[in-house]
Amino acid sequence: MPSKTKPSPFPLWCRDYQQRDYSFNEFLNLIEFFHGHVAPGLVIGGKMVDMAMRHIPEGTLFDSICETANCLPDAIQLLTPCTMGNGWLKILRLGRFALILYDKYKGNGVRVFLDPAKLESWPEIKAWFHQSKSKTDQDFPLLIKSIGTAGEEILGLHTVQIKPRFMETYRLGKKALCPLCGESYPLKFGAICSGCQGDAPYVSYETPNEEKSRKLPVLTSVKLDQAVGQTALNDMTMIIPGKEKGPAFKKGQVISAGDLCRLQQMGRRSVYVDTPEVHDPDWVHENEAALLFAGKMAGDGVTFTKQPSEGKINLRAELDGMLLVEEKWLEAFNMIPGVMCAGRKNYSLVLKGSDLAGTRAIPLFLPNADFRKAMNILENGPLYRVLPLRRAQVGILVTGTEVFRGLVQDHFIPIISSKVEKLGCEVVRSLIVPDDREAIREGVKEILDAGADLLVTTAGLSVDPDDVTRDGLIDSGATDLIYGAPILPGAMTLLATIGGVCVIGVPACALYYKRTGFDLLLPRILAGLSITRADLAKMGNGGFCLGCKTCTFPKCPFGK
Ligand code: ZN
Repeated sequence: MPSKTKPSPFPLWCRDYQQRDYSFNEFLNLIEFFHGHVAPGLVIGGKMVDMAMRHIPEGTLFDSICETANCLPDAIQLLTPCTMGNGWLKILRLGRFALILYDKYKGNGVRVFLDPAKLESWPEIKAWFHQSKSKTDQDFPLLIKSIGTAGEEILGLHTVQIKPRFMETYRLGKKALCPLCGESYPLKFGAICSGCQGDAPYVSYETPNEEKSRKLPVLTSVKLDQAVGQTALNDMTMIIPGKEKGPAFKKGQVISAGDLCRLQQMGRRSVYVDTPEVHDPDWVHENEAALLFAGKMAGDGVTFTKQPSEGKINLRAELDGMLLVEEKWLEAFNMIPGVMCAGRKNYSLVLKGSDLAGTRAIPLFLPNADFRKAMNILENGPLYRVLPLRRAQVGILVTGTEVFRGLVQDHFIPIISSKVEKLGCEVVRSLIVPDDREAIREGVKEILDAGADLLVTTAGLSVDPDDVTRDGLIDSGATDLIYGAPILPGAMTLLATIGGVCVIGVPACALYYKRTGFDLLLPRILAGLSITRADLAKMGNGGFCLGCKTCTFPKCPFGK
């Protein structure tokens, strides 16, 4: 530790926002008082803040972002008015030794960072920064002295513009009392507080409020010979391996003398019977829970069995179409203990009446707290929807001089026609034009004039100077153009719109492969989904066709 009494060899180390100057030693003392010990990173941090403040115009009202949570935030809190508590300092855990001061209204500012490229002449600082020496091998006084001598020499600075979302001030908004813990929380977090949703950092040995009164409902089981005339508390399943599985007894069924033999065959020696004690508000019966879950999960085009079977409810398609799953909320729901929902993959094509998903509570009685957590997740909207596919009026535009001249026979039109017709669409116009921007523009116009509301263009999308399809589409007024997709085959797929008409460019691979990106994207377009770059990016996971000799698509992993 450097001596505090010796005169400092580095008179002015840093200046705070109130123009107070600190010598090197004074700043070391300040660090020790505030931070507990002299941390090298914090000593450098003082210089970084000083440098940043000198590079923003005087009088600027600034906020700050620190790209590491270690040491550096304290330099900002010591020398500027920005603190975590007043919200003017944000910490982003990027793990980079850098800080930003910026105009809190305009977002322009400077970023100062410790530049590893400048550490060559400072071996002690370099060893500390890269942690290449153990703490015991470190020469601490030399390290601190090196930092003092190096000053700004080891720092880099550049001007930056903060992205708008990082400038938003965080507001909690309207508050409510959490129905589970009884504490106040911001309503925007949901119908129960974040802590009760599972984000609390502790487990408690005292049970607060509502939990205090919670005790397991008393389940009464009776021997078979005493069960006659009693009411069954749950569905009881008969399993004959490989042949049959189903509820042999339903919840609420009165057990008769004639039933005893069958219960014995099912291996039952006692059964749970309905008593007043089980009707306890702290617990929710599996049937009731499943019905309420299903009611919230089913969105447009989805219905569900109104009678739970063995505690489970199935969701069904009300119409032919594309299944849409809110994957994020499905996952959140399944994070709640004691509940489950399993369904088919997002974007599957489904037929009317087919099963989509099943949900249930796992124990016979679900704690009301867990039930409410699960219902809270479902407040975000239905998990499942089925969208009908529209019957598009399709125009097909084949580009290619050889095809136009008849030197090469066209195969695109029959392939694309067959694929769109299978999904109920009608081809209203198909055209072959040469590789010429003007010809393509006129072709697009002719097809749109024929009433097409979906344009499929083929070929001419590869890396070839003669390929002018994209230019021709842009000449035709194509916007929102996305070129390239993480789908194999189909990497050179193009998506765009021309005056509200959807355009899909199908690469030449569609000639050779039975299935391509077109087969994955067409149903989504017909379901009216807009496809963004992010949607395409997700398709990379599963977007690899195995090219099987016998194609079983869609009963294969392609696009799943
Ligand atoms: Zn709570």
